[in-house]
Amino acid sequence: MQLRFKPHTLELHYAFGVASNTRTSTPAMLVEVEHDGLIGYGEASMPPYLGESQASAAAFLQQVDLGRFPDPLRLDEILPALDALAPGNTAAKAAVDIALHDWVGKRRGAPWHRLWGLDPARTPVTSFTLGIDTPPVMQQKAREASAYPILKIKLGRDNDRELIAAIREVTDKPLYIDANQGWKNREDALRMCEWLAPRGVVLIEQPMSKEQDVDTAWLRERSPLPLIADESVQRLADVSRAVGVFDGINIKLMKCTGLHEAHRMIGRARELGLKVMLGCMTETSCAISAAAQLSPLVDWADLDGALLIKNDPFVGVTIVDGRLTLSDRPGIGVVKR
Ligand code: MG
Repeated sequence: MQLRFKPHTLELHYAFGVASNTRTSTPAMLVEVEHDGLIGYGEASMPPYLGESQASAAAFLQQVDLGRFPDPLRLDEILPALDALAPGNTAAKAAVDIALHDWVGKRRGAPWHRLWGLDPARTPVTSFTLGIDTPPVMQQKAREASAYPILKIKLGRDNDRELIAAIREVTDKPLYIDANQGWKNREDALRMCEWLAPRGVVLIEQPMSKEQDVDTAWLRERSPLPLIADESVQRLADVSRAVGVFDGINIKLMKCTGLHEAHRMIGRARELGLKVMLGCMTETSCAISAAAQLSPLVDWADLDGALLIKNDPFVGVTIVDGRLTLSDRPGIGVVKR
């Protein structure tokens, strides 16, 4: 089996602001695996604040020797070996994981949602994310998002109430809030949750720092809104840490090394009584369509990454009236544009 990769910089429609930074592009790496006349596609998306880069991904991928595995269908053997090659590199690992899943699904002639035995009619509505901006620009973005029934709003700077009030002037859609660890103390965070609850907010993602489990557990006891872990839970081994601290977890392929581990994280979360959201970075339709294969299993989806970029090389999962709509294309369900 051959592995190829090439850098691709994702150009964003809008500068994307979160609590800690703003950016206009996202570095990515496109990966292909080829064997027996079939090509599997994968992708690493690497927002700089997470520590990976096109250079680190290339260095990792150069170490990957898929030829040493005799059976490419044995993902349960290949993917743990890949994970053990080096610590970190979760997005680069996800790129190979996604490409191998795509190849295996194509070889077996079915999309992964069917290989997992999932009902494609059970996909959730995805939220559409508005990055932090000035109130008039946020209003404009909210108007332009008319096709999406749920909006996700990034908060965590010093004018959260002003932004929500501005958005509420132009839409009454349900809102997911992502504070990206931006709220600094639990009393202020509780006041925000209580202020947001009657304003049509459904959930709060990562209100406080991942170092503040005790404060977050305190907040969860009192918050009228469910709290979802993002930065606090990255991999399978972290899932149990959310019990008693959060109500659910946000799983992203780029932080958990791909579909193989994401599928197991969903199972673990359910055993522990946690809700599950599937999230993403700014990504092409490649990684988004891969994640969407799992979406019939989750409570909430935030799989809008491909909608935020101008140069998507793939066609994959579509969004119809906000709902993720899976196709019968095999593998992760993408074709090149
Ligand atoms: Mg988040």
